[in-house]
Amino acid sequence: QAKNEGRGRVSFFAKSMQDKVQFRVALKPALQKAISEDELFLLYQPKTEFAADGRFRTVGYEALVRWNKPETGMVSPGEFIPAAEDSGQIVEVDRWVIKAAVAQLAQWLKEPQTPVLPVAINVSAALFSRSEFVDDLRAILDATGVPSSLIELEITEHAATVHIENTLKTLRELRAMGFRLAIDDFGTGYSSLSYLREFPIDHLKIDLSFVRDVHLDPKKQGLVKAIIAMAHSLELTTIAEGVESREELELLVANECDAFQGYYFSKPIPASECVKLDLPSVMT
Ligand code: C2E
Ligand code: MG
Ligand code: MG
Ligand code: MG
Repeated sequence: QAKNEGRGRVSFFAKSMQDKVQFRVALKPALQKAISEDELFLLYQPKTEFAADGRFRTVGYEALVRWNKPETGMVSPGEFIPAAEDSGQIVEVDRWVIKAAVAQLAQWLKEPQTPVLPVAINVSAALFSRSEFVDDLRAILDATGVPSSLIELEITEHAATVHIENTLKTLRELRAMGFRLAIDDFGTGYSSLSYLREFPIDHLKIDLSFVRDVHLDPKKQGLVKAIIAMAHSLELTTIAEGVESREELELLVANECDAFQGYYFSKPIPASECVKLDLPSVMT
């Protein structure tokens, strides 16, 4: 009996692994087609600040890529981003995203009635470490006339700490060009305090694993408090990812977190909805 169960389990794992391999093998040409035939599109998730007047206001957006695969429907970034990282296609995905986000900014700048807010773009480790990355960005801005001050680049803590010397060099170049810089998913990687002090960055994005139910977990509260205090002493601002409830938000506000992102305020939305956005002003 136990033997049978054991065997069943082995073949179950073997099958799911085989499925995963097949999924990835099939994904590569499919993603290639997605990039060249514009099956990708962007949604924008608002970044929100709590102002002195007790109201929340949108201060920017994060561009998040989506893939509408005609044959099967939407593929989640949680599936195709890791696959694209493994295959190296993430570099092309990121380039597509940068062009699309800059084109959207250029469009908003053309509409005189639209207040234009900065857009954050996620940059993968593979793209960030390329020597052409900075020059490519410069070329895109030159071609479109979009100012670098409207673009924030998010690099994950993990990606930032792979090759510290290269990270420092690239961050300094980007900073000198006027981009805003953020470390994404902070708290899940391996940055030491000395790297953090040296990184010429503007914001730390507190990973959503620290935000989830923070009001219910004294240890998380301690960590969040410490991250915010440390960021402030380094003259960085903090933004909390994945805020879903009023209780989480209140705890973060009480601990002087500077900005917030999450379903509590808004899911990622199409560009056409960004202008109309009406935020809940709950803390008044
Ligand atoms: P991320 O950059 O940390 O983005 C935050 C993720 O959390 C997004 O998932 C967002 O939709 C989700 N999120 C926002 N608010 C909430 C909330 O209140 N609750 C919960 N549970 N989730 C929330 P998404 O769009 O599925 O993206 C997942 C990850 O994929 C991103 O994490 C980022 O690492 C990567 N990604 C997305 N777009 C791009 C891109 O254009 N380039 C690269 N390189 N990576 C991307
Ligand atoms: Mg991000
Ligand atoms: Mg993040
Ligand atoms: Mg995250």
